[in-house]
Amino acid sequence: MIIDLRSDTATRPTLGMKEAMKNAPLGDDCFGEDPTVNALEAKTAALFGKEAGLFCPTGTMTNQVAIKVHTQPQHEVICDKTSHVYNYEGGGIAFNSGASVRTVDGDRGRINAAHVRDNINPGNDNYAITSLVSLENTCNKGGGSYYSLQQLSEIHQAAKEFNLGMHLDGARVFNALAETGDSPAALGHCFDSISICLSKGLGAPVGSVLVSSKEFIRKARRIRRVMGGGMRQAGVIASAGLYALDHHVERLKDDHRRAKAIGSAISKLAFVEELYPVDTNIVLFRLGEQKKSEDFLKALANDNIKAVPFGKQTIRMVTHLDFTDEMLERVEAVLIKMA
Ligand SMILES: *Cc1c(COP(=O)(O)O)cnc(C)c1O
Repeated sequence: MIIDLRSDTATRPTLGMKEAMKNAPLGDDCFGEDPTVNALEAKTAALFGKEAGLFCPTGTMTNQVAIKVHTQPQHEVICDKTSHVYNYEGGGIAFNSGASVRTVDGDRGRINAAHVRDNINPGNDNYAITSLVSLENTCNKGGGSYYSLQQLSEIHQAAKEFNLGMHLDGARVFNALAETGDSPAALGHCFDSISICLSKGLGAPVGSVLVSSKEFIRKARRIRRVMGGGMRQAGVIASAGLYALDHHVERLKDDHRRAKAIGSAISKLAFVEELYPVDTNIVLFRLGEQKKSEDFLKALANDNIKAVPFGKQTIRMVTHLDFTDEMLERVEAVLIKMA
């Protein structure tokens, strides 16, 4: 039994999901004729209280397309310094949008309304034009931390005061909603655009949906095309996303419970210097100098448990659909042995 805790992207489609993929009605989506893609876009948009959706192969693409629609060259995006859009999208904001980034030192990836107000550039020619705030929820580098609706509406208010767009990198937004209990539409109200991954905790093999207004998505569709993301019978994969929305949202709490249990086992290891609070499905911890992270990862690997380094001496484990209670027991036993 291999236990893969490297990422919640490690999931394989379930039998039910494969069945849905096999039976999906299809058409050419570049003609807008794939009924399954259309259904996924409409369903996701409606959930978040938005008019329209755009299905893309990756969350990187939904983020980059959205930022491109929100900005012009010489514009600037405010985001946390650990954010995915800045760190893990290959410099895409500069490359695709010709925009610069103002990074903010938030709390485990979460910025606040004061950060927004304090980082808006003056309106003279010396400065880039601040035009967008991009948040992440949950925050990957923050160890799965999430925003309260109150925090989001304060940031939204600050952004609107200064006419800034609000984008959410919601790769794991359903993990956040599972904890806050807020409706997707209430969260959606705080943003102009949201990118939602189907291939993380939701367990689909591929895909991300961008939701926003009709006008925004019309522009986004054109940008997706120029990035090479205009797909044909994409209902084959969109069907997996639809299935995931119907069957894999409620169960995210199980991933969070298992992550907390791993966190509890980790906290008992003397060589662990710091364990981040386990808020959702990500367990992030830093080892003391006496234990090299390579050695720790090797020891886990010898017991068929995979985790990833996440910065100097820091390790990340992520729970997901393919991580069972039986596997949890195994991980707990292996960790106890290391204490
Ligand atoms: C996974 C992820 C994305 C999208 O990444 P892809 O590799 O393109 O699927 C975006 N934002 C965050 C925070 C993520 O964890």
